Amino acid sequence: MIVNMSNNATAEEINHVIERIKECGFQAHVVQGEERTIIGAVGSSGRRSEIEALRAAPGVAEVIQISHPFKLVSRQLRQARTVVDVRGTKIGGGDLVVIAGPCSVESREQLMETAQAVKASGANMLRGGAYKPRTSPYDFQGLGVEALRFLRDASNETGLPIVTEVMSEADVEIVAEYADMLQVGARNMQNFSLLRKLATVPKPILLKRGPSATVKEWLLAAEYLLAGGNANVALCERGIKTFETATRNTLDLAAVALVKELSHLPVLADPSHGTGLRSLITPMSKAAAAAGADGLIIEVHPCPERALSDGPQSLDLPGFAVLMKDLGKEPLRDVKAA
Ligand code: PEP
Ligand code: MN
Repeated sequence: MIVNMSNNATAEEINHVIERIKECGFQAHVVQGEERTIIGAVGSSGRRSEIEALRAAPGVAEVIQISHPFKLVSRQLRQARTVVDVRGTKIGGGDLVVIAGPCSVESREQLMETAQAVKASGANMLRGGAYKPRTSPYDFQGLGVEALRFLRDASNETGLPIVTEVMSEADVEIVAEYADMLQVGARNMQNFSLLRKLATVPKPILLKRGPSATVKEWLLAAEYLLAGGNANVALCERGIKTFETATRNTLDLAAVALVKELSHLPVLADPSHGTGLRSLITPMSKAAAAAGADGLIIEVHPCPERALSDGPQSLDLPGFAVLMKDLGKEPLRDVKAA
């Protein structure tokens, strides 16, 4: 439930409502809006009727029901959009953020070459998998900690913040030590113990939509992170399984527009995994931006035919430069060189 305080509610009246919400067995989440304070009463085992009775408390404008099962991620609780700050790169701040890099980190040289090229083309962040969730146990599984070190070096070299996937609870600490943003992959979207652990990490999270997850399930997965204390969450639509086999997945751009309506969290789109086809990356990137995406995550490899994973959906370095031009993203100028 949401308690909307009136515009002129005093600090004392607000504190009283917070105390009553706690006494009734709920958590109180205070959202300070520009004009008034909104207090969410969140939880399942509290005394609801007593919260409803707060309508009569001084300074309270109205008490309303949150109609969705997700609460803290809902725009009903928070109208203002969340801006996720990844070491200076702002996701959801109005500019389209482009995250680019290889599916897997394969070597220092491969990563460094990609990082420098995507930076020169105007990318805002670097991606690269160190721990890879592969469908087959015989496929390349990632270089692990060694890849994390390469990512950090590439970040130091280019200034780009890095995002990389964390697959298991056991790796959360080491990944958080190296990465600026931690990715929860599609296959792990409903790994609730991983989500609970990530909720306690002081780093932003990129939460991909599961291949078979509904929008409600996706937002409830994000709710785990916010409920556990991590409000720095960006969502990523990466395609879902449908009857269509012509593309690797079906990039659900309606979900991007819908989630922007339902939630205050920023949303990115991943046309690489969403289509599996290099030729569709540019049109679907433009379509995602038109649907309201706050950013894109694009797989880029210096030589896609030699990539150890996801070559067919990876752009080469000149291809990425063309995409960035098509998107109207100017390369960042090096101030020192100017
Ligand atoms: C990835 O980003 O490389 C990846 C494995 O993505 P997803 O979890 O969306 O399949
Ligand atoms: Mn990939």
